[in-house]
Amino acid sequence: MFRIRRIYDEVLPVNRAAIEQVKTIMRSRFPTVPQDEIDQLGRHLHDPFLQRFRTTLSVAQDARQRVLGFAFLLHEPTIRFCYLDWIATQVGKASGGVGGALYDRVRHEAFAFGAQALFFECLPDDPALCPREDILADNRARLRFYERYGARPIVGTDYETPYKPGQTCMPYLIFDGLDRTARPGRDFFRDVVRAILERKYAGYVPAEYVERVVGSITGDPVQLREFRYLKPTNVSAAISGHPCEKIALVFNDRHAIHHVHERGYVESPVRVRSILTEIAQGPLFEILPAATFPEKALASVHDVDFINFLRRTCADIQQDDPIYPYVFPVRNKARPPKDRSLLAGYFCIDTFTPITRHAYAAARGAANCTLTAAQEILKGRRMAYALVRPPGHHAERRAFGGFCYFNNCALAAQSLRGHGRVAILDIDYHHGNGQQDIFYDRPDVLTISIHGDPAFAYPYFSGFRDEIGTGEGAGFNLNLPLPETVDGDRYRKTLATALRHIAEFAPDFLVVALGLDTAKGDPTGTWSLTRNDFKLNGQLIGDLGIPVLVVQEGGYRTRTLGVNARYFFEGLSAAHCAASPQRQPANSPPAAHRIRHHVEPRDPQRVRRLAESTGFFSQPEVHVAEELVMERITKGPASGYHFVFVEVNGQTAGYACYGPVSMTASAFDLYWIVVAPASQGKGFGRLILLETERLIRQAGGATVYAEASGRPQYESTRAFYEHMGFHVASVLEDFYAPGDSKVTYSKTL
Ligand SMILES: [Zn+2]
Repeated sequence: MFRIRRIYDEVLPVNRAAIEQVKTIMRSRFPTVPQDEIDQLGRHLHDPFLQRFRTTLSVAQDARQRVLGFAFLLHEPTIRFCYLDWIATQVGKASGGVGGALYDRVRHEAFAFGAQALFFECLPDDPALCPREDILADNRARLRFYERYGARPIVGTDYETPYKPGQTCMPYLIFDGLDRTARPGRDFFRDVVRAILERKYAGYVPAEYVERVVGSITGDPVQLREFRYLKPTNVSAAISGHPCEKIALVFNDRHAIHHVHERGYVESPVRVRSILTEIAQGPLFEILPAATFPEKALASVHDVDFINFLRRTCADIQQDDPIYPYVFPVRNKARPPKDRSLLAGYFCIDTFTPITRHAYAAARGAANCTLTAAQEILKGRRMAYALVRPPGHHAERRAFGGFCYFNNCALAAQSLRGHGRVAILDIDYHHGNGQQDIFYDRPDVLTISIHGDPAFAYPYFSGFRDEIGTGEGAGFNLNLPLPETVDGDRYRKTLATALRHIAEFAPDFLVVALGLDTAKGDPTGTWSLTRNDFKLNGQLIGDLGIPVLVVQEGGYRTRTLGVNARYFFEGLSAAHCAASPQRQPANSPPAAHRIRHHVEPRDPQRVRRLAESTGFFSQPEVHVAEELVMERITKGPASGYHFVFVEVNGQTAGYACYGPVSMTASAFDLYWIVVAPASQGKGFGRLILLETERLIRQAGGATVYAEASGRPQYESTRAFYEHMGFHVASVLEDFYAPGDSKVTYSKTL
């Protein structure tokens, strides 16, 4: 048994482990591939335009996470073709269908990208071209396999011409038309061949060679070799089935124990049932059992007093006789009453959310489901859905209310936070006051909520536009209140604004608080979203291509609840599956840059010129910058100084110098990060810092420190660090000079 999953980045430990295994397979399968090319494999994923192709990696893994095979697919979005760069299975393993399954997946992916064709190379099966008996049998088996899809070598061109004397066994270029049987047109094929030779083989083949091969393509359409192994009637090129990874679905099977038998209490067990009935049968989901997490997991976002109060109060309730809060500590919060029924108002924001006998157990169950779903994301899954009740987004750090007890979204965000940046998008009809409260002073979790204006919608006391966060968290909470009448079009404009902010924040994970009470006819809302609106909303969110955990919040019109949920997930899954996984911020660097880590003899001069050109550093500072490079050149890695250089057209656009802090277990210092004036504002600083963080993480680093002066001149430097998720760790007043403080920033990786 194996499962194929796509690896999008090196953020997660499971992904880094898989990439290492891919490299091991590469080394054994392709011993002639240069070592540094193999070392670079992971980089292609987060630096998509390294070869001016978008790279995707799919791996087949068994239940113990061992990589059995992999495929690297390159996508060219302008010419609209895909090139299968590598496909291989583990040596010595009976392939057990792994290679075939990977090829199937690659075809699906190319098709989903909108590619017109898939190309790749295959060694020849003709003894005249390849006089090596040892590999001919393998080559034949491969070409026979590809014929099953109608994929065959292109013939009648100079593609197989050696570019160095003495080369034999030059590969064929194979054409797979995906679901179409038409042969490729001449102009299209010329563009394809030029792109492959100029980008993939940059540095290997001379320009005249490229012109010769491209010029040799004259037939229109281009000729394919006749079928050699199979009858054309046995070919099946169709692409069918569901190519996307399934959404992990975790639901709370004991939610029904929490049932408030009160007229008008719309948060009822039938809600989960109506969604489950509609979605569980379809192809989108894979149901997973919920794990149990210790109670202390709740304390990551809730006050211990509050958790204890809820547990004890629920345990005290003998009959089905719920406690409704009825006295509230508007004054004198410092002296809470002893009596639990009085205390209810101390920990609650409204009078209609009762404490029932089973509220604690049910809310714990919902939290367990959500944390299970978050763990699934940390295992590399791209989409998960915690179908839970009671909901959570109104639960604050030390308050329940609005049918909510524990904040599931906040718990998920906090658990994902250990592995990257997180954004929470709340699309319930009501303001997500819970997450806002919990993360209000933090810049590492972006909270955004689209909701009915508090002027008329619950919770009335929060959700205003000017609540933007406080302290370090200022600017990391965004409220988008909307009027009483909103249709799908109006809603999507606001959703697009929210998604733009999320893309700018560039989180590694997205948590969506999915309220379906924005739907037409919902008893708690006033808007009129239809099933198709939910599908479009799902698509827009999926287009971000960020690993997403959806948590069920409100939605009370049980007649349409399930259908609306299904439409939302259909949109989300389809878009997510086809989305470009790489984040391309608006100010992304030009495609033709090169990153290098080794230091060259001319680097001391380059660094000096670069530092001087900024006009930012004093002569002694410039001298220090240069010294560090010199030291690296003379002492090598033992110097403790490591570098990341970025070059554009052979010019140094910027660089960073970093190294481990001695006597610490896993702390690193970022000594320098400089971007040339001509290259500023193009995202190079971000690129260099991300690459540096990646290398530090790879070297076992857990924390990075960076320093800046407190002078106004350094304001943009400080803003840059803060934007990149650094926090102020300390401020030493008058450190550099009277009135010139030293600000130390830190970031946990
Ligand atoms: Zn709601």
